[in-house]
This record gives sequence, C-alpha cells and structure tokens, in this order.
Amino acid sequence: MIYISLGSNLGSRINNLRHAVDLISEGILSNIRCSNIIETEAILPKNAPPAWNKPFLNMVISGEAKLSPHALLTGLKAIEQEIGRPAVYEKWSPRIIDLDILLIDDAQLDDPQLTIPHPELNNRPFLLHLLAMMGLQNCHPQACSGSKPTDSEILNQVQDDRLYRPTKSLSLHPALVGIVNVTPDSFSDGGLYNNTDQAVEKIWELARNGASVIDIGAQSTRPGAGIIGPGLEYQRLKPVLDSLAGPMDSGDLQISVDSFWPEIIHKLLSDYQISWINDVKGELDDDTLKMIADKKCKYCIMHSLSVPVNSSEFLPSDANAMSVIKEWGSRTIERLLKLGLALDNIILDPGIGFGKTPYQNLDILRSISELKILGTQIMIGHSRKSYISALCNAKAIDRDLETIAISLGLMHDVDFLRVHDVEGHMRAMVAYNAVT
Ligand code: ADP
Ligand code: MG
Repeated sequence: MIYISLGSNLGSRINNLRHAVDLISEGILSNIRCSNIIETEAILPKNAPPAWNKPFLNMVISGEAKLSPHALLTGLKAIEQEIGRPAVYEKWSPRIIDLDILLIDDAQLDDPQLTIPHPELNNRPFLLHLLAMMGLQNCHPQACSGSKPTDSEILNQVQDDRLYRPTKSLSLHPALVGIVNVTPDSFSDGGLYNNTDQAVEKIWELARNGASVIDIGAQSTRPGAGIIGPGLEYQRLKPVLDSLAGPMDSGDLQISVDSFWPEIIHKLLSDYQISWINDVKGELDDDTLKMIADKKCKYCIMHSLSVPVNSSEFLPSDANAMSVIKEWGSRTIERLLKLGLALDNIILDPGIGFGKTPYQNLDILRSISELKILGTQIMIGHSRKSYISALCNAKAIDRDLETIAISLGLMHDVDFLRVHDVEGHMRAMVAYNAVT
C-alpha cells in the first residue's frame, strides 16, 4: 500500500486538493482511499517572511500502483506542475499543492531524490494522526528519522501543540456549494445577506468553512416569489462581484451565479471570472449556452416545472419521478454537447422541491445513484426545503439537522451538495468518514 500526503496553502485550497486526488486517481493510484482534511499552521524557519505564514490544508491518500518509487515521484511532480506549482520555488514558500510520498509498503530507500519513508514523517504529528485515523497505527517507526511518537504523544500534540493542532477538519467528497442569497425574500435566509458587506462576509465565511464553490442568487425561487427582472438582479449582484473580482481572478474563490437571464449571464461572463452558471430554469438559448461553453465555465442545469415554484404543479402522481429526471437528463446532455459544452463542465441537478411532491422528492433522493448512468457530475440542492416538513415540524431555518442527515445518505453518490450550513455539514461528514 502506498501513502501520499497532500498539502496546499495557496489559492482555493480544497479545490487544489480535489484536483490532485482526481489526477492521482486517473493516472497513478488505484483503489484510492482519502483521509479527512485538517488545517494546520505552516511549519516555517524562524527567518521566513511573514507572508509565508499561511495555514495548510493537509490530507493523506492511500492506494496501489505498479510504478517504481522513482516513477511515482516523477508522476507526482508532473501533477504538482499541472495544478500550477512552479518547477522552481523557494523551500518553505507557500505552495498551491505539495505531494509527498510517505510510505510504499515496507520499502526503505535513501538516495538524493527520494527517501522512503518520508524523512519528516515522524516530525509531523498531524500526518501520523491522519494515518492512524485511516487505521495505520504502526508505520515503520524504525525506518523514519527520529523516533515515532506514541499514540498518546500524537494525540497530545494534535490537541495541544499550537503548531500541530488542527484548526479545522474538513471532508473532501462531495464538494459543498455554499448558498448566499442577496435577496430580501428567500425562503430561509432572505434579508440576512441583503447588503454587499454582509453578503461578502458570508461568502468568505462559507469558503473558510470548506465550501468549494459559493452560489450567489439575487432572485428568490421560493413558492410565491415575484420575478424581479434582470435590471434589479444585476444591481444586486454587481457590487458583490466587484468586491470579489480579485480573488475570483486569482482562483482563490470559485463563484457560481444563480441566474436564468441571458443578458445577465452574457454581461457577467464578460466582466468577471465566473466559475459556474447555475440555471434553475433550464431554458437558456443556444447563444448563451455557446458563450458558457466558450468561457469553459461550468454549467449547472436544474430540472423544474415552474420557476418560481408553483406549489400546486407536480409531476403526475403515477409518474416514476426518477425516470422523468433521467429522460430529461439525457435529452439535456445531448443538446448541451451539441452546443459545445464539455461533459466535464455539465452538472445536473434533479431539482428537489421544484414540481415534485414530498414523496416524489424522497423517491428521487433514495434512488439518486441511478443518475450516475448519465455520466455528468450531479448536484443535489435539498437544503432546508419544504419536503422536510414530511419528516419534522421545524421551520425552514431550523431544518439543518434533517438536511445533514439526508446529505450523509447521499454523499457517496453525488459530486456536489448545495447547502446553507457548510460548517455543520463538514463536522458531520468528518465524523461519518471516521467510521466508514
Ligand atoms: P517539501 O515537500 O519538503 O516541502 P518539496 O516538495 O519541494 O519540499 O520536496 C523537495 C524534494 O524532496 C523533492 O524534489 C524530492 O526529490 C525530495 N524527496 C525526498 N523524499 C521524498 C518523498 N518521500 N516524497 C517526495 N519528495 C521527496
Ligand atoms: Mg514535496
């Protein structure tokens, strides 16, 4: 078994880790298992510039490979460069991605290019902690430099030592899409982030808590919401996007815009580095879709019967809701591919709560793995929605417990969960991962 550590303290750190895991699983390791992610402070020499003091996200993956150790190192270095790490860099300086080989079975190797086990392994209690959480307590202590700390020493260090104590624990899969509504009237957070400062602060909070993408909406789609039109939508979005333009350009922040107005989408794609267009109506014209394709922007399209939701319009009661979604999905994908969208840039959302009864919503969620056959990435937006009233009496804003429980049931079958409570999701997923 091979163990590799992944670290990132530049850019959108969680997306960098996911990018690296994807590339490693495509070309290097099979049967990959991922640890949770922990954030720790950078380990730096005393004279390091203060700008280097940026916290790392760290994780470990295990897997199998038929490569020689040196071929493995070469493959990992190629991935570091593909993700954007320069070929030449100063030791200890911040890095978009760092891939280190910790262990290769019980191999011991020491030459100018490669030392196995990794020479620093026993000096990094947070890595020993992640390995132990993956069930590998006894990692060749005699071969590592320094003596391996005992379990209680590792635990003490990751709980008490300022340098090694994780400041946060996150889960890599599925990616979380954080929701921010710059509206006065959205169903669960309407009015909370209705001015630019509040919205921008919330966006950074969601990103810090581990959201991979933040979805900004300026039009409520709840039942009974009024359609505000493109002019007001633009007025609400522009100041928020202006405040975030720098981090969007640098890739520090991935922003999705929830809009179905062609003129808004054209303007925003021309003016900003938008990562996703989230289209809840699914009626965009060919030109707009071609522009999304040209910009290599991801396009998330949702199944709906009416937007805003008309609470009396549902799929027929004798319909198999999942079959309807699958037929819609294949038709949609065929059209999008013809217009030039890459399959990797299409995300399908079955549209929980949009034209389905609570029972139909639950049917769709229970059979969600069937959507894998479509070959695109899948996003579910089930957070706090009213089908949960079939399960409890809580008001929309108090439905995070049910939302998270349902997310745990979905997490192995979907790529993205669009949620309000990113922090709560991460805590629950981290704990769930630890015992599954
Ligand atoms: P660090 O990981 O220490 O921050 P680098 O990633 O720049 O720094 O690694 C520096 C060099 O360490 C690599 O170019 C590689 O040749 C060498 N090296 C030695 N052992 C290992 C190992 N087990 N895994 C990865 N790199 C290693
Ligand atoms: Mg390295």
